[in-house]
Formats: sequence, structure tokens, C-alpha cells
Amino acid sequence: MKFIVDLTMGKLVKWLRIAGYDTVFYNSVEVDRIIEIASKEGRIILTRNSNFIKRRKKTLEERGVQYLLLASEIVDMQLRDIAAHFMLNLKKNSFTICIDCNKPLTNISKEDVAGKVPEYVYQNYSEFVQCNSCGKIFWAGTHKKRMDDRIAAILEN
Ligand SMILES: [Zn+2]
Repeated sequence: MKFIVDLTMGKLVKWLRIAGYDTVFYNSVEVDRIIEIASKEGRIILTRNSNFIKRRKKTLEERGVQYLLLASEIVDMQLRDIAAHFMLNLKKNSFTICIDCNKPLTNISKEDVAGKVPEYVYQNYSEFVQCNSCGKIFWAGTHKKRMDDRIAAILEN
């Protein structure tokens, strides 16, 4: 499942990528461009702009573009609505996409990260992943725990 999100919802973009969903953002002024990209790349439009949906409902339906109008400004609530609406398990694929460039992460051995991550990280972690595009290295301690904690909190509320 892939998404296209209003530029104003940067936090949501970040968290969807942490959860492993291919997510891009665009300026919501360019409505036709958003619809075109969503249609071409099979992306679901996430927006808080009800006028956008109201005005383009027919076009969206004609082109078979899925969308979800988000009511909340709070990213936790947005994630909860998205997960409920599309029946997503936000933990299942977490840590498979780079937060910065939206490209796949691949496993990298502990030996290969020696000298490339802080010493305490090297000593304390054994699983590492690297972005194929920007080369950034992530380890389970950084965002995975925060992601898991946040998702757990969202589901409890
Ligand atoms: Zn990257």
C-alpha cells in the first residue's frame, strides 16, 4: 500500500515511512498533479482538505483513486484512523523504508557497520539496516522502539 500526503503533514509522512509504507508528499495546491501521481503510481491520497475531496470527488472516482479524509491534526490520531480504515498492521513492516528518502532498507552485517556507527551503538546492537539510496544506517534502537511504543499507545487509546 502506497500513499501520497499533503506537504503540511510532514510528521505523518515520517511515521508512515517508519511503518514501512512507501509515502511521498506534494503541495496540496497542485490538486491535479496529486491526482495524476496517485492514479499513475497507485497511491492513496491522505488529506485534511475537505474541499479538495468535495471538488474532485467525480474525478477521483472516475480514475479509481482511493483517498481518506483525515479529521485530526494529531499524528497519532491520523495513524489510528489510517490503520483502522485500511486494516493495516503498522508494526508488521516497520523499518523497511528510509525515513529520509523513501527507498528500501536492506540488512547489513555487524562487521560491515564497524566504524560507521557510534561505538556504543556498535557494542549494544546486533541488527542493522542500510538505505540503498542515501547510505544511512539505522539500528533497532533508534526508531523501532519509539515506533513500537507509539503504536502500542495508539492502539490502547
Ligand atoms: Zn535514504
